[in-house]
Amino acid sequence: MSNDQPYVQFKNVQKSYDGVILVVKGFNLDVAEGEFITMLGPSGSGKTTCLMMLAGFETATHGDIILDGQSINDVAPHKRNIGMVFQNYALFPHMTVAENLMFPLEVRNMPKSDAQKKVQKALDMVQMGSFGQRRPGQLSGGQQQRVAVARALVFDAKLVLMDEPLGALDKQLREQMQYEIKHIHDNLGVTVVYVTHDQSEALTMSDRIAVFDDGVVKQLASPSELYEKPDNAFVAQFIGENNTLRGKITSIDGNDCRVDIDGHGEMIAQAINIGGVGDMTTLSLRPERVWLDPDDTFPNVFEGKVEELIYLGDHIRTRMTVCGHDEFIVKIPNSTDHKDLQVGDTTKIGWKVEDCRALDCTD
Ligand code: ADP
Ligand code: MG
Repeated sequence: MSNDQPYVQFKNVQKSYDGVILVVKGFNLDVAEGEFITMLGPSGSGKTTCLMMLAGFETATHGDIILDGQSINDVAPHKRNIGMVFQNYALFPHMTVAENLMFPLEVRNMPKSDAQKKVQKALDMVQMGSFGQRRPGQLSGGQQQRVAVARALVFDAKLVLMDEPLGALDKQLREQMQYEIKHIHDNLGVTVVYVTHDQSEALTMSDRIAVFDDGVVKQLASPSELYEKPDNAFVAQFIGENNTLRGKITSIDGNDCRVDIDGHGEMIAQAINIGGVGDMTTLSLRPERVWLDPDDTFPNVFEGKVEELIYLGDHIRTRMTVCGHDEFIVKIPNSTDHKDLQVGDTTKIGWKVEDCRALDCTD
């Protein structure tokens, strides 16, 4: 296998459960060996279906899935050598933790002394080395998920699939486990295909993210590219916090365009994914890219009326009315001297063309 050959490939994969509705509509994805890739999207968008087809528990209605250069359409799930961690793919309750990890090794006929060493190593990796003799019922939810991660890794799978594995954990534990799983991935160099509906989880863990909507990938890119350069309004809205302003395109000049916001004023934006003059577009602008008291180098300067202030420690989340929209969010860093804004105040705000993207309304 050459190094640039993808380790996993979905080639024009479609899936229908009822023979009528496609819940996955022509899915293409190349995953490099050692990559951590996440399928992110709202509930019902087809993420689990794609993962189940890769695991072999569902068959594709159309298209090919390739693993390490071989089509696996006809390979049984247990012959794919894939590790799995699912929220509802529970540990065996009647077995101890160590027995749970021994199980995939026994299935593979590994000699017992080798298997015991592997089990201990896998448990140590998830900081559960001293819990081998406990039963799952004697562990917390977070500890059980650690064991589930260890079980997915114990037989040296080169590919591990995880479907919302942290969904049942509280926020603090979830964030801690995100870093732990990421570190394990970095240390072992396994390929991970991860599913979540939580955008911050996806940003934290992934090399690349495929953003799903209704069976279609809307954008496939690195976390920073998705956040900084969303291709369409769906991705801009789904990843991170976003100000959305709709308006009509009044002129296009190279890479920039002017957009009239319902007669409230004209903004200059990057023309990313738009129609022509006279068409509607959706502007996307991140709350932390809005400046207070902008100087005259700013091409976009507007008046904002403060509607609500929420103190969040490191920043003050400010909701304003701007150009007739009362859901405009500005994040004011706590280190600036704008901390004494009051509800009802009017202030000048501005932003740069490079931080404002005109995206297609139909997306
Ligand atoms: P996600 O994981 O993104 O929430 P799923 O892949 O579970 O999405 O579901 C995609 C669509 O397929 C949904 O409309 C869901 O109702 C439907 N679906 C999922 N599993 C089945 C099934 N076993 N039988 C019929 N429809 C299903
Ligand atoms: Mg799902």
